[in-house]
Amino acid sequence: MQYDVIVIGSGPGGYVAAIRCAQLGLKTAVIEKYSTFGGTCLNVGCIPSKALLDSSEHYHNAAHNFEQHGISLSSLKVDMKKMIDRKNDVIAQNTAGIAFLFKKNKIDSFQGVGSFVDKNTIKVTGEDGKVEELKAKNVIIASGSKPTALPFLPVDKKRIITSTEALNLTEIPKHLIVIGGGVIGLELGSVYARLGAKVSVVEYAKSIIATMDGGLGKELQRVLKKNLGMEFFLNTKVTGASVKGKKVVVTAEDAKGQNIELEGDYCIVAVGRTAYTEGLGLENIGIQVEERGNKIPVNEHLETSVAGVYAIGDVIKGAMLAHKAEDEGIYVAERIVGQKPHIDYNLIPGVVYTWPEVASVGKTEEQLKEEGKKYKAGSFSFKASGRAKASGDTDGFIKVLADADTDEVLGVHMIGPRAADMIAEAVVAMEYRASAEDIGRICHAHPTFTEALKEAALAATANRAIHA
Ligand code: FAD
Repeated sequence: MQYDVIVIGSGPGGYVAAIRCAQLGLKTAVIEKYSTFGGTCLNVGCIPSKALLDSSEHYHNAAHNFEQHGISLSSLKVDMKKMIDRKNDVIAQNTAGIAFLFKKNKIDSFQGVGSFVDKNTIKVTGEDGKVEELKAKNVIIASGSKPTALPFLPVDKKRIITSTEALNLTEIPKHLIVIGGGVIGLELGSVYARLGAKVSVVEYAKSIIATMDGGLGKELQRVLKKNLGMEFFLNTKVTGASVKGKKVVVTAEDAKGQNIELEGDYCIVAVGRTAYTEGLGLENIGIQVEERGNKIPVNEHLETSVAGVYAIGDVIKGAMLAHKAEDEGIYVAERIVGQKPHIDYNLIPGVVYTWPEVASVGKTEEQLKEEGKKYKAGSFSFKASGRAKASGDTDGFIKVLADADTDEVLGVHMIGPRAADMIAEAVVAMEYRASAEDIGRICHAHPTFTEALKEAALAATANRAIHA
């Protein structure tokens, strides 16, 4: 069968690329090795983790926060099976949605491992060993990533687990040890802390969510400790983990060289993800992956060293985020038909779905200092927000960073209620190169959490916040 484009992988990068290719009139096929579409994001990533975060948040609010609203509940309990079943149902709805979209857009799909025979020929090997060969003018590799394994942390998938198993536990851990204070570790740690587990986070860096603006990590750590009793071992290097019956023992060394031993019943290893290229047959077309991180090298147009073979999403450089993969999918589809699309990698927002949520776009204060850029900073605390007082969500703040000379917004960093949704306003503003004063002069509905962004922008403009 001859196609204009074959996409390998049906995660957010692959399926979005395929739909855009089909919209542009290209005859398109997708190869997916799993039985459902949607990749990591829909099956074992973004969507299931958010389903469990929402369920656990309802429970935590009912157990701890309803009382202050004058709502009393008795005999509250968690039905773990039902919670996981609901999560699975959410996954099924989403993956079925992709199958529907493929049909609607007349995209052919093949189940099996896609592997290069040559740059225009892809062999699909099904689970039953059946082999089929497909031909295409262009190939988009969107094979994604898998959890990073560390040699001294043997994952047995029962007690020492990755995010994938953590989304399917049949019981609430008594003591969950999370190795890695990044996004995935903190989100999954939050799920189980909200359901009543003691959660200890061990992080090698000196702060959690270390790549985000420094103020966010500090505030998030404070709030997770205060609200969920989570404990943190920062600047601490894990040296090993072992399973003894139903117990997991994690050994680590702190910054002073002191040995630490933690005993729990589950341990999530969440130390990052590695590009997934196994079985692609890249060697058959002369593509060499990067030594560090296994990534496929691409040029500024996301084309590999082989003309007509592109790569997008987690399998290439850059943030490992679903929306980055999606934008790259659209970019490549449009390049193939000769359009001139553009992605501003500085404006890809990053979000942590803890509560409060954390969201960020643009430069951090640390980056601006390193670049020697003169900037102004304005912050606004949710303690002073009428909407936050009404809902009882007063932890957190919004910080706006603007160019000291031109007032152009350079970065927006927020921790607070619904920050994941609010960051979109900052992205739009920055996409159109708004100044802090522009945001400060836009009418924001009252009472909303978004007023905190307006106030932070006013604070950055000339210390003009009204409610501070
Ligand atoms: P993937 O989604 O990994 O999809 C790759 C697909 O390719 C897979 O289905 C795989 O089976 C298939 N494949 C691989 N090789 C072959 C082959 N040879 N032949 C056929 N098929 C193949 N990101 C966010 O933006 N927001 C979040 O809230 C978020 N939460 C996350 C939570 C967790 C627990 C995890 C693990 C990740 C989360 N992510 C989140 C990251 C997000 O899931 C990834 O960035 C995103 O899925 C990457 O998309 P992709 O299309 O590049 O690859």
